[in-house]
This record gives sequence, C-alpha cells and structure tokens, in this order.
Amino acid sequence: MKIRTRFAPSPTGYIHLGNVWVAFLNWLWTRQHQGTIVLRMEDIDRQRCHAAYAEALMEDLDWLGIDWDEGPGAIYSYGSAVQSERMDFYRAIFEQWKEAGDVYPCFCTRARLRQIASAPHPGEEGPGYDGRCRNLSPEERARETKTPSWRFRMETESISFTDLFCGMQEKTLHAGTDDLVLVRADDMIAYQLAASADDGAMGITHVFRGRDLLSSAPAQICLLQKMQRIPPVYAHLPLLVDSSHVRLSKRQHGITIRDMREAGITAEQIIGRLLFWAGAVPEGERISAGEALKEIPFSSCRALQEPEIVVESLLS
Ligand code: GLU
Repeated sequence: MKIRTRFAPSPTGYIHLGNVWVAFLNWLWTRQHQGTIVLRMEDIDRQRCHAAYAEALMEDLDWLGIDWDEGPGAIYSYGSAVQSERMDFYRAIFEQWKEAGDVYPCFCTRARLRQIASAPHPGEEGPGYDGRCRNLSPEERARETKTPSWRFRMETESISFTDLFCGMQEKTLHAGTDDLVLVRADDMIAYQLAASADDGAMGITHVFRGRDLLSSAPAQICLLQKMQRIPPVYAHLPLLVDSSHVRLSKRQHGITIRDMREAGITAEQIIGRLLFWAGAVPEGERISAGEALKEIPFSSCRALQEPEIVVESLLS
C-alpha cells in the first residue's frame, strides 16, 4: 500500500509546539515509510483564518526542516489542498445527501442546545443534541422561522477501529443524539464534513493528529463509509500539556515557533526537544529533522501511548 498522510493545520495564528509535535511526528513516520505528505490548509472559517498565518506556518515548517509533497499553490488529481478552494466539492456532497434525505434541517437555537449539553443524567456526559428536529413533519418545518443548520441523519451503529497509539476503540453512534451538524446555520461547512471528505478524496491512508480529536474519529469513519471511501488508520498522538495539565494553545506565552526563533532558539533544539518528549532521545539533545530521519527510527518514540505529556516551554 502506498502511504499517504496529511498535516492539516488551521491558519488561525502562528504555529506552536503542539502543532509541530504533530507535524514532525507525522513527517518522521511518513518519510520513514516512503509515504507522501499532503499539507492541507484547513481555512474554511474565513473569520478566524488568515493568509498571512498560512504563509508563516509554511515558513516555520520549512525552517524546522519539515517538508511536504503536496500543498498550497498547485492542483492535484483531487483539486486544491486548500479547503477554502474546495467549497464546491463539499457542497456537492451535501446537496447529494440533501436530495437523498440523508440530512435534515435543525432549527434549534444555541441557547436550547446549550441547555441540553449542561443537563446530563447523573454520571453521564451530556448529549450534544436530543434529536428534536429529526422527525419534524413538512408542516412543522414550514412553521419554523430560524435559519436552520443541517444535520446528518445517523443510523444507530457501533463503530470500532484500532488506533496506532490508543489501541482498540469502540463507540456506538446513536440515531438522533449523534446527528452531527454538517452545514452550520451561517452556511459554513462543518469541520467533520470537510475533513472526512478530504481524507477520502485525497486518498489519506493514515491520520496523525492530537488525541483531542479521538472522539471525532467514529463519526468521521461513518461519513467516509457513506461516501464509499475506505477510512484511514488513525494515529492519535498524546496531547502536550503544561504543568497544570492545560493543553498548549496559542494563548500561552512563548510557545510559538516565531517566539522561539526570535529568542535565538535553533531548529535543532526544537526537534531535539520534540524527540525527547516522544521518549526517543535524552534531554538536551540537538538534532536536525534530516538527521533524525536517518538516525532515529520512529519505533524508538516510546512515549506515544501516553494520553498526555507534560512539557515546559523552551523559553523558560
Ligand atoms: N484543522 C484541525 C486543527 O488544526 C486538524 C484536523 C485534523 O487533523 O483532522 O486542529
């Protein structure tokens, strides 16, 4: 099998250690398996994404020595690797499903959905939705005045898969409560639809990303099956967290690659630190991405089964 992976950042800010952790490990694994890497720009949210961040992130990856084979600026058999340039493709899938009755309009207000989520049964996680609009009659729909979002009509189904790092996973998706939004009320295509449509169309065989998205995998598998695509193998990596177990985010100081570059930290220090967190090298190692590719087999990254890894900023 020809391996194809993707790194799929959202250009909403400068990339940070949490992003390059995923980008680098995906790169190392793919390159050591002679695979192809797609840099997919997930920039559908036009309010939050900016072209300047997309440019900056490619520049930062380049500086770190992390390259890719397919990405922005070219057209491939599946079209562009930039999601904002693929809107017709997502709409066509959605329209086809709408025609077939596989999606339905949901008129629920945010306030109502918030209320459902915050009133769980004891000991359970609150459902995201209660299926209210799934079986509205045409007359009932006609009486609604709010612009709807559009939900996928899920069949109750048990989804199981083996994650490369998290092992065997099984989840039952329920008709109604797991009906996910595919098109938002403001007409924006939802992440779940775009990401699964692209993983399918781009022939992605392995998906490396953070464990925060592990819970999205069953629904994405279900959407991929609906599109008659073979779901990829998932590889959810441990989350990098600070000493209070808070996930690294752009809001924290000193963790963007830009901050570190400006403070004189080298790419070799950053790559060395990523490999130290992965359990592959001793603390303080300095190594370039190119050297790591030759000298550090991915299998020596022994810490990747952990749910999270507590890290310190390189600037502290
Ligand atoms: N664009 C998503 C993010 O930056 C990643 C989605 C994915 O890897 O499936 O968090």
